[in-house]
Amino acid sequence: MTEHAGRYAPSPSGDLHFGNLRTGLIAWLFARTTDRRFLLRVEDIDTQRSTIDSAHRQIDDLLTLGLTFDGDILYQSDRFPAYQRALDMLTARGLVYECYCSRKDIQDSPRAPHAPAGAYPGTCRDLTEGEREARREALAAEGRTPALRLRADVAEFTIHDRYHGAYTTEVDDFVLRRGGQDPDWAYNLAVVVDDGFQGIDQVVRGEDLLPSTPRQAYLATLLGIELPEYVHVPLVVNEQGQRLAKRDGAVTLREMLLDDPVFKVVEKLAASLGYPGVNTLHKLLEVFDPEDLPREPLVWR
Ligand code: GLU
Repeated sequence: MTEHAGRYAPSPSGDLHFGNLRTGLIAWLFARTTDRRFLLRVEDIDTQRSTIDSAHRQIDDLLTLGLTFDGDILYQSDRFPAYQRALDMLTARGLVYECYCSRKDIQDSPRAPHAPAGAYPGTCRDLTEGEREARREALAAEGRTPALRLRADVAEFTIHDRYHGAYTTEVDDFVLRRGGQDPDWAYNLAVVVDDGFQGIDQVVRGEDLLPSTPRQAYLATLLGIELPEYVHVPLVVNEQGQRLAKRDGAVTLREMLLDDPVFKVVEKLAASLGYPGVNTLHKLLEVFDPEDLPREPLVWR
């Protein structure tokens, strides 16, 4: 079996809708037409919003549609020791520091005129040990723990994306583990560690994740993980141009199947990829060509 692998990595916080399914289907088509294994990862890293029931429903939905997966399903909730090992590696190299800032502190702090919104201004990067001690104690008194940030030693990073070409963003000292009352692993760390662990060499996912990709790629290079091919695909949006969500009507597979048989849903998905009239995954595999994929967001109607 080939060593190459793609993946689909939904967050189990609700039933899969047309937009999720379309992205998953594109990822599957890319993998299956390039002789890759196709792995499923349940991104239940956000323990507040994820449920195992939702994960099971999503897996059922994907199987209902006819998507096939290889190997075991990986759950991020089982991976916390691996995230800790990656953090320890970075810490040992002096690349991690504690951050005591609240969201408001970050919003209110002065920053360079052209810094992107939300980028961390580096407030806690160069504190003395005495200053750290005092801030740590103040947080502890509120029952909170500090966040952990990466000490990034580049200002920006460029990735190459199949549809977007060379794509550069600023790399700030982003969070690796969130602090607060309930410390949580940051998605940017988890995705890199897991893609590396699963041997993913092709990442096909929604365009909303493109802006965080240079940060993730930079982190991968620090962890010695080879960069995958990146393929960011346009999202399905509502009429206001926002990412499709449950409130936009009968958008989940389960809702769609109340009115239509599965092959009709496949037909709708295939039409959205530029192949009207195709209503089986088998046929779709035969006609799929990455060059045909529409490059604009698809408006759900
Ligand atoms: N779990 C993310 C989502 O459902 C996908 C992240 C990824 O594919 O890297 O939006």
